[in-house]
Amino acid sequence: MHPVTRADFDQYMVPNYAPAQWLPVRGQGSRLWDQHGRDYLDLAAGIAVTSLGHCHPAMVKALTEQAQQLWHVSNTLTNEPALRLARKLVDATFAERVFFCNSGAEANEAAFKLARKVASDRDPARDEIIAASNSFHGRTLFTVSVGGQPKYSEGFGPRPQAISHVPYNDIAALRAAVSARTCAIVVEPVQGEGGVLPASREYLQAARELADAHGALLIFDEVQTGVGRTGALYAYQQYGVTPDILTSAKGLGGGFPIGAMLTTSEIAQHFSVGTHGTTYGGNPLACAVAEAVIDTVNTAEVQANVTARAAQLRAGLEALNAELGLFAEVRGMGLLLGAVLNDHYAGRAGEVVAKAAEAGVIVLQAGPNVVRFAPSLVIGEGEVSEALGRLGSALQAFAG
Ligand SMILES: *Cc1c(COP(=O)(O)O)cnc(C)c1O
Repeated sequence: MHPVTRADFDQYMVPNYAPAQWLPVRGQGSRLWDQHGRDYLDLAAGIAVTSLGHCHPAMVKALTEQAQQLWHVSNTLTNEPALRLARKLVDATFAERVFFCNSGAEANEAAFKLARKVASDRDPARDEIIAASNSFHGRTLFTVSVGGQPKYSEGFGPRPQAISHVPYNDIAALRAAVSARTCAIVVEPVQGEGGVLPASREYLQAARELADAHGALLIFDEVQTGVGRTGALYAYQQYGVTPDILTSAKGLGGGFPIGAMLTTSEIAQHFSVGTHGTTYGGNPLACAVAEAVIDTVNTAEVQANVTARAAQLRAGLEALNAELGLFAEVRGMGLLLGAVLNDHYAGRAGEVVAKAAEAGVIVLQAGPNVVRFAPSLVIGEGEVSEALGRLGSALQAFAG
């Protein structure tokens, strides 16, 4: 068999992605290497996934040790890594109960089903889920329907019903929408895919108060913001607003697939035996890796690095912008940053991403106008400077 190349993607894969022309084969820390040995500095971390960089020794150790012990049992049995991880998540958050699954979409699917189940048990007239326009919650039919980007939910036949959307960060619109029919309000504390747009503290506080006043649940989708990315273990802790249900994935496994839904005992009891499940949820390999991630991330040292590297990256982007005048603003929280292209360059974030890759630095876009940065939480000062240097050349070439 001939060695695989990027051309094989077009020949063999379902064409729902358009990957870059270069093909990574190895990663270490915040660096990736392609098939020809060229290196790339990684300011994307997958999409906010490889929270400890590539092949972090604590994760390699956890994975390989667990690989010698036990890979899988069904949910007719439980296992030690899942129980240890659940205990750590409960100890570190508002939650009293944890449900494990394999992705962000599945964590949200569980959250939305649980909210509907709670409503159906307490008050069957209540079924409405209120979400934000431009939000992103995953790609299952329920999660694209709750997500506020119609382009992702159209063309797949009838959608789940009783879902409405209100503009993000608009307290009056949320107040007008919530009623005795509302079973849950769903919010991303920072809209990630929607353009790295942080919620205001007042908005999250209002969402909490409105949910309480109308007997609805408050769900925070922290799939992208969670596990240290914003400068706390979860962003809700920085906002000082506690949800009833929180979903986590992406950074939780640091590159190994896992998702989690966190909630209180009171709410969790509505998922009684047999009401919901998934074959791989609580997989020992995934949970062992996630435990190593939590142990490493939930430390003062890593949180201090997030704050310091975020300041460095922001300052570097502001300095490049002072020179080149590309961005209207740099926004975000911790190491989830978005540089918003100004009107002159509107719609061209994809070109910036491509130019950056040519210069050997990986960045992301978040919609057509925002260049997104979500590096490893343990990226070094030297790596950030080097990446900013490469990005500077890329932006210069882009501004032409
Ligand atoms: C990525 C993302 C999801 C979906 O996660 P998957 O693991 O791709 O299913 C859901 N919500 C938010 C906020 C995300 O950023």
